[in-house]
Amino acid sequence: MYADPVRRYMLPVFSDRRTDWPSHPYATRDSLHEHDMWVAEGLTHRYPTKVLAELLPTCPQYCGHCTRMDLVGNDVPQVEKLKFHVPQKDRHGQILDYLRRSPSVRDVVVSGGDVANMPWPRLEDFLTRLLEIENIRDIRLATKALIGHGLGAAGVVEAVDNRAEVYVDGGVRRGVDVVKALAMGARAVLIGRPQLWGLTLGGEDGVVKMLAMLRAELELAMALCGADAVAKIDRALLAP
Ligand code: SF4
Repeated sequence: MYADPVRRYMLPVFSDRRTDWPSHPYATRDSLHEHDMWVAEGLTHRYPTKVLAELLPTCPQYCGHCTRMDLVGNDVPQVEKLKFHVPQKDRHGQILDYLRRSPSVRDVVVSGGDVANMPWPRLEDFLTRLLEIENIRDIRLATKALIGHGLGAAGVVEAVDNRAEVYVDGGVRRGVDVVKALAMGARAVLIGRPQLWGLTLGGEDGVVKMLAMLRAELELAMALCGADAVAKIDRALLAP
């Protein structure tokens, strides 16, 4: 378990630290300057058509790759963290008000912290009100915890109830991950890290090889499940 790369990623421990590697000289606590671009507390509007809505400042796992470490989690002895001051319900209302007044915005990344820490009825309420805003066409739930903790996309698919397509972006590392996401009702998956690993190790050929491996694994997983077409991957494949 200690050597497991998923454990390293999701549950870093002190002994994982490489104190011989210095921090990047330009590293800052809010490396993407999201706080500087808040138009309402927790709402970053950087691009004309797209915003980031940070619904809460907590995460169920605290992985080792957080670009929001300035906001996420409690103060530590060395650092006092950025805090939300507006009560959560009012803050979410202010975010929605801004989006109603901003017709150029069509794409909302709903994040945190991690939305997996948000009680489901409260998240559902926020998403329902978001879906009612005419200009909002894409809503992305940014969570590593659903994948990290195996909670899956099935609940999300059920909640949106065909009002939106659900894509799983994150944690897809093997063909069987694709089968699981599709079986839970996702329309497709997106692949981030594996292509960067392929690129790092073998350039363009590395990415092509990674895709070929993923496809072969997907075909094998489908064959083992008895599905001879992607359209035949459904919830019946999941354990009850
Ligand atoms: S919010 Fe996301 S990136 Fe930050 S610690 Fe949690 S899982 Fe990691």
